Amino acid sequence: MSDSLPVIRINQSGYAEQLPVQVAVLSAESVNVSDQDGNTVKTVKVADLPFDEASGDNVKVVNLGKLPAGEYTVWCGTESRKISVKKNPWQDITNALIKGLYFQRCGCELCEKHAGIYRHSACHTAPALEWDNKDVKKTIIGGWHDAGDYGKYVGPGAVTVAHMLYAYLLCGEGCSDELNIPESGNGVPDILNEARYELDWILKMQKEDGSFYHKLTKDHFAPFIMPQDDKDTEYMMPVSHTATAAACACLALASRVYKEFDNAFCESMLNAAIKAYEWLEANPDFVPFVNPDGVRTGQYGDKSVTDELFWASCELYASTGEKRFFESAEKLYSDDMNLYAYGWADVSGLGAVCTLFEIREAGGDGLFIRIREKFIETCKKIAEISDMSGYGTALPADSYMWGSILPIMGNAMALIMYELLTGDESLRPAALLQWNYALGLNALDISFVTGFGKRRVMNIHHRPSGSDGIKDPVPGLISGGPNKRMTYPQTKERLGDTPAAKYFLDELPSADTNEIAIYWNSPAIFVGAFFSSLCAE
Ligand SMILES: [Zn+2]
Repeated sequence: MSDSLPVIRINQSGYAEQLPVQVAVLSAESVNVSDQDGNTVKTVKVADLPFDEASGDNVKVVNLGKLPAGEYTVWCGTESRKISVKKNPWQDITNALIKGLYFQRCGCELCEKHAGIYRHSACHTAPALEWDNKDVKKTIIGGWHDAGDYGKYVGPGAVTVAHMLYAYLLCGEGCSDELNIPESGNGVPDILNEARYELDWILKMQKEDGSFYHKLTKDHFAPFIMPQDDKDTEYMMPVSHTATAAACACLALASRVYKEFDNAFCESMLNAAIKAYEWLEANPDFVPFVNPDGVRTGQYGDKSVTDELFWASCELYASTGEKRFFESAEKLYSDDMNLYAYGWADVSGLGAVCTLFEIREAGGDGLFIRIREKFIETCKKIAEISDMSGYGTALPADSYMWGSILPIMGNAMALIMYELLTGDESLRPAALLQWNYALGLNALDISFVTGFGKRRVMNIHHRPSGSDGIKDPVPGLISGGPNKRMTYPQTKERLGDTPAAKYFLDELPSADTNEIAIYWNSPAIFVGAFFSSLCAE
């Protein structure tokens, strides 16, 4: 399969003059770089090409160092590829990834001014019924469609918002305020404007007793139709511990972030978070969420709520300073937690981020130092995985699962936070390789972000993109990428023994490899915001 692909793999969206230019080559020839006048400006010898297990390729990452802004040709033997180096090459991609969430907005019209050719009328505005008691009817409008489907799920939404809020807190300079969304120009940074669209919806998903409905979906996935044509009844599905704890954490975090913009909003979020926490205290026996009989939308089940409770305790302590929350965080933390886990199932990493950057030594130095040491050790291991990979990808060959882009971007987040925490820039090249992976430096020679790159994903599993009659998919959405676990039989039949990093079909039905999701966009937003912040003036 890769035989017909170029021997030089690049970030198709270009490189930054402030950062080293990384490419991967599949030919053991010297790599030369020539400028527009044909002068050779760089030569790097490639002595050997190690075998890369994940891709099955013999391939090596080559660091071409920093290059001044301009257009270049990279040569490997007789083959060549053009690259551009710019001052701030990725701001528009970072913006597009945030705007990608605007395109997921539910319950409002996406008008031409903001959505262009992807405009559509308001969807999912009818009242929803409570699944367990269909006499209860509520109008809950808003939130983002979760992924390729039109469901809205509290836990995944909370995690997505958290990635965005931490991107704002830690890499704010890389978040531009020119997204052209309805709130643009209101004095609030656009990344916070967009995140608030989901926060307002999450608040509406809380019940009187403090718990949160797990999700608001129909009982089945819609066919490939536009959202405004999806008119079957939606249901508030039963409450869950994980949704309640994740919402609690996210709202507590948001209650700090929006303080300088809207105090009343922050108070309502903090009150909701405390109410959720008290419901969790009063209901200590964890019950995993399982789809009720007859419901076939995303389950987002979880084996444990300890990580969500840990994250919630950290955020509540950071927001209130109340000792009870810190004591709870200390009690819940254990050294075997995955401090780099930022996905919807395991949110331990978000508790760690809160401890490392927001709480720090405020609760006494015990927990902070423990987490700091473990986090540093973990990040060094992540960098080693990247170093061992032929494409520099921080994902072992056996870990390409549904949405492999999440651990890859999540590992980049961890490497970036290592730098922000320690000031040590030595792991930055490994973080940068993950960003380059998303934009084309990979075994498939494909850019996973819609609308960016010459060879980019075109047929994402995304209902609006698949039913709007427009050739190009909705821009700014990131594909889940290669997946060799949990694959559909039809994918297995097509791909057989294909190596993990190439187990991918850019085809609309291939939800197992080419779906999009809000919580895959958001870690990429964090990574893009960091690298854009390094390039900002
Ligand atoms: Zn909708």
